[in-house]
Amino acid sequence: MRRRIAGRNFLFVPGPTNIPDRVQRAMMVAMEDHRSSKFPELSMSVLEDLKKVFKTTTGQVFIFPSSGTGAWEAALTNTLSPGDKVLAARFGQFSHLWIDMAQRLGYQVQVVEVEWGEGVPLERYAEILTADRRHEIKGVLACHNETATGVTSDIAGVRRALDAANHPALLFVDAVSSLASIDFRMDEWRVDLAVTGSQKGLMLPAGLGILGTSQKALSALAGANSKRCYFDLGDMIKANATGYFPYTPALPMLYGLRESLNIIFEEGLEDIFFRHHYLAEGVRAAVTAGWRLQLCAKAPKWYSDTVSAIVVPEGINGAHVIDVAFRRYNLALGAGLAKVAGKVFRIGHLGDLNELMLLGAIAGAEMAMLDVGIKVTPGSGVAAASEYWRSHDPIPRRKVSQEEQFYEAHSTGSIQG
Ligand code: PLP
Repeated sequence: MRRRIAGRNFLFVPGPTNIPDRVQRAMMVAMEDHRSSKFPELSMSVLEDLKKVFKTTTGQVFIFPSSGTGAWEAALTNTLSPGDKVLAARFGQFSHLWIDMAQRLGYQVQVVEVEWGEGVPLERYAEILTADRRHEIKGVLACHNETATGVTSDIAGVRRALDAANHPALLFVDAVSSLASIDFRMDEWRVDLAVTGSQKGLMLPAGLGILGTSQKALSALAGANSKRCYFDLGDMIKANATGYFPYTPALPMLYGLRESLNIIFEEGLEDIFFRHHYLAEGVRAAVTAGWRLQLCAKAPKWYSDTVSAIVVPEGINGAHVIDVAFRRYNLALGAGLAKVAGKVFRIGHLGDLNELMLLGAIAGAEMAMLDVGIKVTPGSGVAAASEYWRSHDPIPRRKVSQEEQFYEAHSTGSIQG
């Protein structure tokens, strides 16, 4: 099959996401001295502004030159000791990988197995925490948005489960594919450790592992005996206090982050959450009303506003859809991972994107599905998504008078050239 090279690659994996041109340009900088007296202006401003994105005023945010996985490790090793018990639910590849990491680091993980397509089982968590009268569980892990299955969990509900049991365990949340795209409230939900990476809602390349910590998490550092070096928050706190890092920071990434935060605040976090929901609803309309296929997420309460995992019909390999989309139409869709490999393909709908970009992805996915023998009605996905978006205009209607002036100018020929 011929691989098209003209035109843009359509990047619709759920991270890395499309990088706004402004962010790309901001990263094109000459290297400079990260120990200069000027450097702290940049570092302090991004560290402070990230707190707004986590919605914390009482916590502290840290940046590591790593991916999200590094921030997972930083969260665990800075607050736990070997042998400590943690509670976690497994319902997709990323919740699985965090559990696997916790086990490999020597923690005792009580794993609640959940069907893939559902999320954190609040009632089970509440039962387990209530039964743990001696408070042996030191940490509760929750994956806010399971990117492998397109499932969002109720983190406020996890906090309620902890509170109802009067349980003091630290609340660890993976917000890698939710932060800056789906509402996340670190202070309100009293999240102790919130993990993210730069390549999703923050619209940057991969390369920064970002960790939000509560004061309670920070006070656990002294008693946490896990071996740590590169990810030691103690070193980071000391260096960050004066605006520096304990090692060479990823300078262009920090400039990019500065610009991405500017863009985020210009649009406004609440508008960003709304846009993600509105765009996701259009994609879900394409999948269910248009193609008559199913989402991996088992019920609307689990639907993710950043990624949809679409179940392919029996006898079809989802990997085939992805490969045809990529090689024939220059469209990158997300693969099915682990347990759902071959059974789903994913459309990432997070970051810097709008309706028409998504219509391209929907059309391309539809063409690839038809090419591999999935009997969807041609045009049905685009029709359903566009119908949804046209009937749910997110932009307050411009004043009629302005529109009238515009039409008038065009119809009388007063605009020339
Ligand atoms: N957690 C979730 C929910 C993810 O989606 C990912 C990556 O896609 C990770 C963790 C791991 O992050 P990284 O690949 O940046 O290490």
